[in-house]
This record gives sequence, structure tokens and C-alpha cells, in this order.
Amino acid sequence: MRSQIVAANWKMNKNFGEGLKLATEVAQRLAPADQRTVQVILFVPFIHLEAINRLPEAGNLRLGAQNCHEQIAGAFTGEISGPMLQSVGVQFVLIGHSERRHYFGEHNALLAQKVSTALTCGLRPVFCCGESQQSRAAGEQAHFVQQQLAESLFHLTEAQIARVIIAYEPVWAIGTGNTPAPEQVQAMHQIIRHTIARQYSEEVAQAIPVLYGGSCNAQNSPAFFACPDIDGGLIGGASLEADSFITIVNSLASSTH
Ligand code: PEP
Repeated sequence: MRSQIVAANWKMNKNFGEGLKLATEVAQRLAPADQRTVQVILFVPFIHLEAINRLPEAGNLRLGAQNCHEQIAGAFTGEISGPMLQSVGVQFVLIGHSERRHYFGEHNALLAQKVSTALTCGLRPVFCCGESQQSRAAGEQAHFVQQQLAESLFHLTEAQIARVIIAYEPVWAIGTGNTPAPEQVQAMHQIIRHTIARQYSEEVAQAIPVLYGGSCNAQNSPAFFACPDIDGGLIGGASLEADSFITIVNSLASSTH
């Protein structure tokens, strides 16, 4: 069975005290990770990582960073490296979030390097892909996402891609309140899985978790999580409050697929 995952993306929100309070509340309301079917990952700003890792309840969570540099070390002022993240207990890293692509010019070839570096550093990449509104309107969403996968992931070996988690996040759904129908997301997740199966194997494709992200909240998450190829969610806005985030985690735990 594939891992089921709910991941929070706090983006650039929460000062130190606020972040610690939210992470503590979320961790306290979760059972220990090994007693649950759903993994919970918090992708938080860098300043929070070490303190969350030291919480007494940290074992109930997994820790993720929102970015890492494609080089291991060096003269890259303002950047953070995979080994630095590893040294404070980070296990996962977001690569290719649409905001990084849009505001920081991160393109498919650069993301391919970041994915490789993260894996070399022992981090599991959560690779974000998803089409723009324009591409969906033109009916080109499948081609768009397949190209993102091919250019940023298909240099990996089979053993490497087995460590990757994919988050399908249509750009037009992120932070907008506009969500695709669950059937549209299910269809895209199937396309993603078929594309991976063609490049690697059916076995690899069936094992990779594919999460949905884009205005997923406590009200609509059950409908998404009922779809057979949606293995969980990447949650932005609704992860900034413990109540809504925990409700989403519980909705995945009680989904029946
Ligand atoms: C995200 O930033 O990954 C995201 C899905 O945001 P939101 O849930 O706010 O749309």
C-alpha cells in the first residue's frame, strides 16, 4: 500500500513564537507516527526547523523544508543546503513549488539538479508540478505536467525516483479558492502514474505517493481523498490553523480507498 500523507506548507507565515505554538498544538493532537496510517509533514520556514525538531512530541511529525540549494555548500549568500537541513532533523524538502517557479525563476532543468542534490543529501523531495490556467484552458494540461516530470525527474534511476513524492498542484487552484473537480484531479494523477510507469515500471508508478494541492481545505478534502489515486494533500492556507489542518489529516485517515 502507498504511503498516505498530509503535508502543511506554511509558506512565509508565522514568526518564531507563532510557529512553535502551531507545531506544538498539531503534534500534541496527533498520535505517535508509528501508530497512524497517515504521515504528517510540516514544511515550515527555516527558522522553525530546529525548535520543532526538539519538541517532546516531535516524533508525531515529520519535518520538511520549503527549498534547498542545488549545490552542497559554497558562496551562495542567503541560501540553505541539503546537509544543513539534514543536521536539524529535516527529512523532506519541497522542490518546484509554483511560487518558487514563478517568483524565483526556478525552471525544470534547475529543479532536476535540486532533486538530485536533495536525494544525495538523504532528503526525500516532494516534487510539485501543475499547469497554469492558460494551459488548462487550451486543454494542454497533461502535456504540460508530463514535460515537468520528464525534464526534472526522468534523469533519476529507478531506486532514486522511488524516494520521490509528487504533489500535483494546478497553479490556478493555489491560494485562489478555485478547485478542480475531484474527478479532474483523479484523472491527472492517473496520467502522472502512467507517465512514470512508461518511463520506469508499473511497480514504481504504483508505489509513488501522489498528493493533491490547491485550496484543499477541511470541507473539500474528503471528496479528494476518496479518489483512488490521490494519496493525500499538500495544504497551504488551511494548514495555518491547527483545527482545520487536523480535520484534513483525520479526513484522510478515515477515507476508504
Ligand atoms: C500550496 O501552497 O502548496 C497550496 C496548496 O496552497 P493553498 O492550499 O493555500 O492553495
